[in-house]
Amino acid sequence: MTFFSHLECSVPCGAPRLDPRAVHHLCSCGAPLVARYDLERARAWRRETLAGREPNMWRYREMLPLFDGESPITLGEGFTPLFHAKALGATLGLDRLFIKDESLNPTNSFKARGQAAAITRAKYLGAKTIALPTAGNAGNAAAAYSAAAGLECEVFIPKDAKQPFVDECRLYGANVTLVDGLITDAGRMAAEKGGPLGWYDVSTLKEPYRIEGKKTMAYELAEQMDWEWPDWIVYPTGGGTGMVGMWKAFDEIERLGWVKPGRRPKMVTVQAEHCAPIVRAFDEGAERAQPWENAATIADGLRVPRAIGDFLILRAIRESGGTAVAASDREMVEGMLAIGKQAGVSAAPEGGAALVAIQKLAAAGSIKPRDRVVLFNTGGALKYLDVLHS
Ligand SMILES: *Cc1c(COP(=O)(O)O)cnc(C)c1O
Repeated sequence: MTFFSHLECSVPCGAPRLDPRAVHHLCSCGAPLVARYDLERARAWRRETLAGREPNMWRYREMLPLFDGESPITLGEGFTPLFHAKALGATLGLDRLFIKDESLNPTNSFKARGQAAAITRAKYLGAKTIALPTAGNAGNAAAAYSAAAGLECEVFIPKDAKQPFVDECRLYGANVTLVDGLITDAGRMAAEKGGPLGWYDVSTLKEPYRIEGKKTMAYELAEQMDWEWPDWIVYPTGGGTGMVGMWKAFDEIERLGWVKPGRRPKMVTVQAEHCAPIVRAFDEGAERAQPWENAATIADGLRVPRAIGDFLILRAIRESGGTAVAASDREMVEGMLAIGKQAGVSAAPEGGAALVAIQKLAAAGSIKPRDRVVLFNTGGALKYLDVLHS
C-alpha cells in the first residue's frame, strides 16, 4: 500500500497541488517540486514490518513514489552497509565514526538511488527517452536504469570528464554528447535539444523523484542505527539532492513516529575549495548562493557551480545546526588514501572530502570524541584512480 498522494512546490509559493499521475518537472514559479505522502494514514505503518523485507531501498516503498500494483525498475540499489570505522576514527580521536558506503550501489555511487526512483516514474508516465546533463555518476546511473527499463538515454557530459564515466554511459547503450563547458552548460544543451523532442529530463531537482530515491539513505541510517540519529552527517554536496532528500526524510520519519522528534543530526555540507558556492553562501548568511566562477576540482560530483535547490540545502544546514566546509583537491586525495588504508573502503574524492571535513571539525573541537559521526562515501574510487597520479 502506498501513501504517495501529490506534488507541491518546495518553496512553497502557494501554487496548487499537482496530480502525480501526470508529467511535472518544475513548479510554475521555477522552484523544484516535491512529492508528498498522506502522513495521517501512514502513522498506522509500523517499522516492525520492515523485518524480512529485501535489502534494497524499496523496503520503504510505502513512502516512495510508487502506486499500488506497480513494480520498481531496480538493480538492487540501496541498503548499503554502515561500518563502524574504528581504526580510521582513532586517527582522528573519534570513538564512533561510521562510514555509509554508497560505493556498493549499482554503477558505484549513490546516484543509483535517485535514478531508480526517477526512471521508474518516467517509465510509468510513458517516457521514451531519458535525458540529463551530468558530471559523470548521474549519467552512468541514468544509462543503466534506462537500459533496465527499456528506454533510450541521452547523456550530456563536459568534454573534460574522466574517460571511465563516458565509457560506462556507452556500456549501457546511452548516446553521449560531449559538451564544451560545465554541467550547467550541459544542462542548457540537453534542455534545448530535448525540449522539442519530448525527452524526459531527469536533471538534478528538475523532476521531483530523484530526491525520493536519495531520501532512502536517511531511512536506512535510522534503521541501521536502531532508530536513533547520529550526532553528525557529513555529506559531499554538489547539486544537493542527497542533503535535501535526507532532510525531507527526517521530517517524514519523525511524523511516522519511528524516531523521537526534535533531536536531528547536524548536517555538514562538504564542497571543493575551487567550487564552493554553498560554503560561501553559508558563511555570508545568504539565503541563496551566487554562481561560482571558474569552478574546478578533481571531484567531478562537486563541480556544480550553481544548484537550483541552493536555498533548500542552506535551509537544511542551518535548521540542523550544521555547517559547511571546503576541502582542497590535495586534501581529498589524502582523504581517499586514509579511508582506503585505515578502513579498506574504496572512496571517491568526494568521500575523501568528507573525511577532510571531519578532520577539520574534530580539530576545531566542534565534533567531540564521543559524538556519533556518519561519513557518507558517496561513490567508489575506481573511476577516479588517475587522481592518485596527479
Ligand atoms: C553527484 C555526486 C555528489 C554530489 O551529490 P548531490 O546530491 O548532487 O549533492 C557527491 N559525490 C558523488 C560521488 C557524486 O557522484
